[in-house]
Amino acid sequence: MEAMVIGGGVAGPVAAIALRRIGWGVTVCEAYADPAGDVGSFVSLGDNGLRALHAIGCRDAVAARGTALPLLRLRSGRGKLLGEAARGRVTLMRGHLVETLRDLALAAGARIVTGRRLTGADARTAAFADGSTATADLIVGADGIHSRLRAVIDPAAPVARFAGLWTVGGLSARPVEPGAFGIMFGARATMVSAPTAAGTLWAAQVPAARPPAGPVDRDAVAALFDGDRGPAAALVRSTQQWHPRTVMQAMPGGVPRWHRDGMVVLGDAAHPMGAGQGANLAVEDAVVLARCLRDAPAVDAALVRYEALRRPRTGKMLEVAGANRDAKVAGPLAARMRDAMMPFFFQRFAEKSGAWMYDYDVEWTTATTPAPAST
Ligand SMILES: Cc1cc2nc3c(=O)[nH]c(=O)nc-3n(C[C@H](O)[C@H](O)[C@H](O)COP(=O)(O)OP(=O)(O)OC[C@H]3O[C@@H](n4cnc5c(N)ncnc54)[C@H](O)[C@@H]3O)c2cc1C
Repeated sequence: MEAMVIGGGVAGPVAAIALRRIGWGVTVCEAYADPAGDVGSFVSLGDNGLRALHAIGCRDAVAARGTALPLLRLRSGRGKLLGEAARGRVTLMRGHLVETLRDLALAAGARIVTGRRLTGADARTAAFADGSTATADLIVGADGIHSRLRAVIDPAAPVARFAGLWTVGGLSARPVEPGAFGIMFGARATMVSAPTAAGTLWAAQVPAARPPAGPVDRDAVAALFDGDRGPAAALVRSTQQWHPRTVMQAMPGGVPRWHRDGMVVLGDAAHPMGAGQGANLAVEDAVVLARCLRDAPAVDAALVRYEALRRPRTGKMLEVAGANRDAKVAGPLAARMRDAMMPFFFQRFAEKSGAWMYDYDVEWTTATTPAPAST
């Protein structure tokens, strides 16, 4: 059996590795020429994403490119500790994650073709911008938040929209509290920080009615944190390496249709998260898809199983991602409420309420069963 995977970001190479493990031939087609190396922003993989990588033998190689941070710590702009949880994660540059996953996919025997952009598809035949076409038993759309394959599967599919936050970040020489991934809810913006051997990775998440029109400048970003306690403003002012500005996008209602006729979407193409757990879910999706293809009698039956296994979890995560964004765009009154209530709720419920997110296991060795018939 042959799969064509569209997109060589996070979900694409993981799908390629997982499909090679069940004996499929795989070609990954990536629109851009290179994986981005040291540029781009950083991502964090939680226990759930790392567990999914472990299931296909990739955890150690990925973890070796990043920094393990055993704690998550939340503070208000006044310096108040809002919550702390032992939520292990590995933080690394997205470019390094992609590079490592592509190397692992190649080592597993997948083919990766770069500079090849999908423009359309029909009946398991993909068409590319260079005029070429190719046919496979399955076309996997791992082509991200603006997925072309999503629109091929369902021309009426909604498109992702600005989610009310933009973000910019960098690498700073200014140290922060060691061992903890920090989130500080400032008066005007949220600061996310991760101490690594190379320095402090940081990202400012800024609420706005519309994305900024032009380039953002260091002083303007630092000024967003003047008045907040803690190192946020100093982190910005001492930044040596800037990461590009990103606009958060989301599709709150979700993607109605994930598959048809041997074509399927996964990762951001199936459930644009904005940020948060997006890369973790992309990894989980790819492993579960391969598991279903391994066990089901035919490709289309496998896609039905895959959707039945993944919809409830990704739908719940979309709701959480929306609530997390709301916490970051809170007005002054809501922010005061958040700062007053969070210490109480976080300590009491964080462990329990986070368990469904972080304790999830892709269950690679367990056989999948047919999805219950819908009524
Ligand atoms: C600022 C920011 C911070 C984030 N932080 C985190 C985090 O800490 N933790 C987390 O879990 N998630 C995080 N995310 C989300 C995460 O990056 C995404 O959810 C994840 O990358 C989705 O993986 P994917 O493979 O589905 O899509 P992508 O990683 O976007 O990959 C899609 C790939 O498809 C290619 N492509 C697109 N169109 C075509 C085409 N027509 N033909 C061929 N190739 C195509 C693209 O070039 C790209 O390589 C963050 C996102 C942002 C913006």
